[in-house]
Amino acid sequence: MSEIVLKGIPAAPGIAYGPSFILDKGEFIVPKRSISSSEIDSEIARFEEAVNKARQEIHVLKAKITQEMGAGQAQIFDAHLLVLQDTTLLGGVTTGIRETQSSAEYVFFTVIKKFVEAFAKMPDEYLRERASDVEDISKRVLRHLMDESKLHDLDSLQDDLIIVAHDLSPSDAVSMFNKKIKGFLTDIGGRTSHTAIIAKSLGVPAVLGLKDATLRINNQDYIIIDGQKGLVIINPSQATKELYIKEQNKITASLEKLDDLKNLPAQTLDGKNISILANLELPSEIPVVRKYGAEGVGLFRTEFLYMNRLDLPSEEEQYQAYSQVAQAVAPFGVTIRTLDIGGDKFISSVQIPRDMTPFLGNRAIRFCLERPDIFKTQMRAILRASVHGRIQMMYPMISGLGELRQANAILNQVKTSLKDEGIAFDENLKVGIMIEVPAAVMTAEDLARETNFFSIGTNDLIQYTLAVDRVNEKTAHLYEPAHPAVLKMIQKTIDAGHNEGIHVSLCGEMASDPLFAFLLLGMGIDELSMSAASILTVKRMIRSVKLQDAQRTAYEAMQLVTGQEIEEFIDVKLRKFLPV
Ligand code: PEP
Ligand code: MG
Repeated sequence: MSEIVLKGIPAAPGIAYGPSFILDKGEFIVPKRSISSSEIDSEIARFEEAVNKARQEIHVLKAKITQEMGAGQAQIFDAHLLVLQDTTLLGGVTTGIRETQSSAEYVFFTVIKKFVEAFAKMPDEYLRERASDVEDISKRVLRHLMDESKLHDLDSLQDDLIIVAHDLSPSDAVSMFNKKIKGFLTDIGGRTSHTAIIAKSLGVPAVLGLKDATLRINNQDYIIIDGQKGLVIINPSQATKELYIKEQNKITASLEKLDDLKNLPAQTLDGKNISILANLELPSEIPVVRKYGAEGVGLFRTEFLYMNRLDLPSEEEQYQAYSQVAQAVAPFGVTIRTLDIGGDKFISSVQIPRDMTPFLGNRAIRFCLERPDIFKTQMRAILRASVHGRIQMMYPMISGLGELRQANAILNQVKTSLKDEGIAFDENLKVGIMIEVPAAVMTAEDLARETNFFSIGTNDLIQYTLAVDRVNEKTAHLYEPAHPAVLKMIQKTIDAGHNEGIHVSLCGEMASDPLFAFLLLGMGIDELSMSAASILTVKRMIRSVKLQDAQRTAYEAMQLVTGQEIEEFIDVKLRKFLPV
């Protein structure tokens, strides 16, 4: 078989090789589970009960839609009910359970898959489209047969595989934390999607936006991922394999060299200190944060505590998680960001209708202000944890003073109740905001007067400034961190913060690229927070340059007019300073 090379978006660095595992497009994973002969009858009963529950749900839904939108719109549910009465389907599953002695969900999944495939191949377009209805029904029944979180977690996967998927949600990616996954590839997605961010946290290479990887790669194909260049090599030749083994050895050697920097300060040659902190998705990443010598956690993305479960995390559970992180990073601090769901992050415990443009929809602070019950529970947990370490709190996606004041009003209510209950918390807890919406940049002076710090979220700021969806591979080439408009936004934010005497941090992916970090240093940023694995490379850059040179480069770069010119300019300048 000859070697095939695919090019995608480099999302997480590193090299991996091994067998591929194709995760079917958007499908659930239903692990095979054997049952004993004495369990056959109860398994069939379980299946029948699941079908009955699914039928009841469809009846309720049909009645609701009939009332709201008329009988015509509700007709589709009759077709769903017919599928759930189909004797070939129902009989096929019960016989299958008996004959193969496998679990109801596994047999149902296998049988319904054949139904979907049969519909998808129908010559009639109307019938072909019904394949997605059958898929919907299958999910409905599976939800009653399995714990929903199991449907989404990737528990059934073996270790040491390269996952290939059409799309991989951030919650799918995060469920790989306790698996030994070697890397992943997707057809869609962009460099700053949360799936890419999770890949970095997992320390595995990822290439996204490959467009048709799921069609080109077969299960168990031997593949190489080059996460730095965004390449995927299917069935590599012996020569290519050897080349990559050498490349990987080189990477390992240079990482070992960087290890010496772990306990040294991030200080420029002319004595300017920059704080370098880590971004964190789950408390289980703390050892990695320590391994790379982070000076604390600059962004704790708490929404991952809410994922892959059917209920909301309780106040107590959150309190434990926040206290654990605060204690683990001491003497450094942690900046806990309040819940940022919506966009590309969804949770099962709260249904947010999928907007046409989710990143512009009900997301982050907008969601929390609409659901003060959820917001208050989190605030109580953060406040209670604040006595166990250096904790700061920040709100995501603030677009103006009105929102900031609303959030702070809720915070004050929470503080008052804690006081009434005699529960201790840090009365001087610093509360900051993420600057990631152009409207916040334009009102940064006002915002700076009513907040304790800014943290610039360039992942979003770039997408909102340039109107380029951060998860869309088709527009990925337009997603330019060095676009002059983006740089002016960043500069304005830094200046507004400093004029009001507040600290300005930056926690988007831009911070983890030494080239952009050099520019940001020159623009006056106080702190950079990034995926832990990038810390030492950025520290190496900071220790090799002078603040003065960074300032001059930033000034000159800002006179240029395109993102490409700016990037090339900084690259040339920085090369002069970096050790080879
Ligand atoms: C950002 O937008 O830059 C950021 C750090 O937050 P998130 O990536 O979680 O949206
Ligand atoms: Mg953001």
